[in-house]
Amino acid sequence: MKHKFLAVIMAIATALCMAFSVTACGEKGNETGNNPPVVDPSGGEQGNQGEGGTQKPDDGEQGETPAPHVHSFGEWKVTKESTCKEAGTKKRSCACGEKETQTLPLAGHDFENMICKVCGIQASLGLEYTLINEDKEYEISGLGDCKDTDLIITNNYEGAPVTSIGDHAFELCSKLTSITIPDSVITIGEMTFYGCTSLISITIPDSVTSLGEGAFYGCEGVNSIDIPDNVTEIKAYSFSRCGEMTSIDIPSSVTSIGISAFLGCWGLTSIDIPSSVTLIGRSAFTGCSGLMEIKVDTKNQTYHAKDNCLIETHSQTLILGCKTSKIPDDGSVTKIGDGAFDGCSGLTSITIPDSVTSIGGDAFLDCFGLTSITISNNVTSIGYGAFQDCKGLTSIDIPSSVTSIGNNAFSSSGLISITIPNSVAWIEWGTFAFCSNLKEVHFENPNGWKVSRNEDMSDAKAVSGLDDPATAVKYLTDTYCWNYWKREG
Ligand SMILES: [Zn+2]
Ligand SMILES: [Zn+2]
Repeated sequence: MKHKFLAVIMAIATALCMAFSVTACGEKGNETGNNPPVVDPSGGEQGNQGEGGTQKPDDGEQGETPAPHVHSFGEWKVTKESTCKEAGTKKRSCACGEKETQTLPLAGHDFENMICKVCGIQASLGLEYTLINEDKEYEISGLGDCKDTDLIITNNYEGAPVTSIGDHAFELCSKLTSITIPDSVITIGEMTFYGCTSLISITIPDSVTSLGEGAFYGCEGVNSIDIPDNVTEIKAYSFSRCGEMTSIDIPSSVTSIGISAFLGCWGLTSIDIPSSVTLIGRSAFTGCSGLMEIKVDTKNQTYHAKDNCLIETHSQTLILGCKTSKIPDDGSVTKIGDGAFDGCSGLTSITIPDSVTSIGGDAFLDCFGLTSITISNNVTSIGYGAFQDCKGLTSIDIPSSVTSIGNNAFSSSGLISITIPNSVAWIEWGTFAFCSNLKEVHFENPNGWKVSRNEDMSDAKAVSGLDDPATAVKYLTDTYCWNYWKREG
C-alpha cells in the first residue's frame, strides 16, 4: 500500500515536471519578446539544454517545428546595490529558470555635509568649485586651500552634483599622492592632472565619458590607470610620460588614440589594441622603450600586429615597433612609418625586408642600442632623422637602390665610415651633422655634386674633391653640412 502510494506520487511528480517543461517551452514560443533571444552565453558548458548549444537563435518563423530552447534573458535586475564598502550584485533570468548573476563595481562614496553617509569618510575640504551647466552642477576648478595629499572629492556640493573636474584643476599639484574621483563626475578636463608627479593612485569611475587632452600628462609615479569603459577617445598627450605605468587596458569603447597619447611611457611592457580602434595618432607610443609585446585584436579592420609590429593594414605601413620586433617579410609591410621605432633604445639589430621601399622620418631616431641594420635592395628613400642619435651604429650599408637621404638622417650617430652609392643623387642638410666619429665617406660617384642653402638649389655651388674620403667628411660634417646636396649627370 505504502509502496503503491509512493509510485503514484512519483508519477504525479514526473507528470508535473514534464508539464512544467512543456509550459516553459510554450511560454518561450508565445513570448511577445521585449528582449531578443539570447544564445546561452555559457556555450552549453553548464549542460542544460544541450541540444541548443550548436543551434543558432531562431530568427524567423519556422512553422510548426518547435525551436530548440534559446535562453531569453530578461533585463538585469539589481539584487543588491553597491556601496562604497561592498560590491552589489545583479541578476537576470530566463523563463526556463536559468539565472545569471554578476557582481557590480563598488559605488563611490555618497557624501552629506562632506561626510560619506555609508563609511563615514571625510571629503577633502577647501577645494575650489565653480557652478556650470546653468548653475545646476559643480565643477572642481582648483585645489583652493586644500592641504590634503590624499584627495577625496565629494559627489555633491551645496545641493548640486559635482559632474566635472575642470581644465588645469590640479595642474602641477606635485604633493598629491592619491585622488578619489566620485561617480557623479562625467568629464575630466584638459591638463587636469598635468605634472602631478607624486601621484601614485588615481581611481576614475565608469561614469566618466570624456578625458581631456593631456589630462594625466607627466603623472610620473602613477602605476596604473583604469580607463573607464565609456571613453571613446584617448586624446592627445593624455598619458604622456606616465613612466611608472606598467600596463594599460584600452577598453573596447575606444575608437581613437591621439597623438603622443602614451609618449614616453617607458614602463609599459605590452599593448593590446582593441578591434574598435580606427585611428592611432602620430607618436602615440613613442619612447615606450619597455614594450616587448604589441597585439591588435584580430577583428580590427584598420590595424593588425605581426611579430610585435603594429601595421596599418591598408597602407602596409609599419607604424610601431619595439625591441622584440621582427619586420615581417611576407609582403605585408612596404613602408617603415615615421617614428616607427623612435626611442626604442633596446633594439639592437633589425632587418628591413625586400618588400620595404621607404624608411620614414625619425624611423629609428634615438635607437641608441642599434648596432646592426640590414636594408633591403628595394629601399629608395631614407627619411629625415631616420638614424639620428643611433650612437651604437658604426657602419651601415646603403643599398644601391637608394636615391635620396633626408635631413639629419645620420646626425649624431656613431658612424665611422660610410659609402654613398652611385644611385644617391640627393642628400639634405645636416645628414651627417655631429658625427664626431666619422672618418671616411666614400662617394661611389664623386662627380657632379652641387650644394645650396636652398631646396630649389638656387645659388648652387659645385663641389670637388669628394674622391678623397677625408675631404668628403669635412664637407659633409662641416663646410657644407647645412646645405642641400644634389648630383646631376
Ligand atoms: Zn532558458
Ligand atoms: Zn563611503
